Amino acid sequence: MKRIDKQCLVCGDGFLPKSVTSVYCSPKCSKRAYKFKMLQLKKEAVINALADKIPKDRIFISVAEAGILFGVAKRTLYRLVGQGKIPSVNLGTRLLRIDRRVMQELYGPARSLRQTESLPNKKLYSLEKEDCYSIGEIAHRFQISEGSVYSHIRKYSIPTRQIGKHVFAPKSEIDDLYNGNDFI
Ligand SMILES: [Zn+2]
Repeated sequence: MKRIDKQCLVCGDGFLPKSVTSVYCSPKCSKRAYKFKMLQLKKEAVINALADKIPKDRIFISVAEAGILFGVAKRTLYRLVGQGKIPSVNLGTRLLRIDRRVMQELYGPARSLRQTESLPNKKLYSLEKEDCYSIGEIAHRFQISEGSVYSHIRKYSIPTRQIGKHVFAPKSEIDDLYNGNDFI
């Protein structure tokens, strides 16, 4: 049976997947994807911290604040304000204020609310036992030492879960990391 090439999600090259879940052509691309994901998560954390500082009961917010709360580019907001699609109050030069309630109507709940609402399905991985490998399984499966597994888990901030004496890590994250398994 002819194996079908997949396209790498990072570099776009065709490759022969080692398993049905393989989405990256090489450990290099897998690592790049992981770094990118971590960077996005860090950015999210920074934006969330900024959003938390904006008082929830303040109706009139600046364009920058609206951008943070509703995830819309400032440039887009200024354009919509200019077109009269978002009503605004001008408190002076560079002191444009827009109504939070109008933003909510246009874009849905603000970030902090949206975040808590969608938390259960926002998970990127599952830590259920059947979706995880133990460290021993990983070492055996990918032919590396348990020590290396632990150091990679730390290096790439892969989540883990301890059940009894054993430490488990999500299969999805581990497969992504070692996909291709000819590095190390
Ligand atoms: Zn690739």
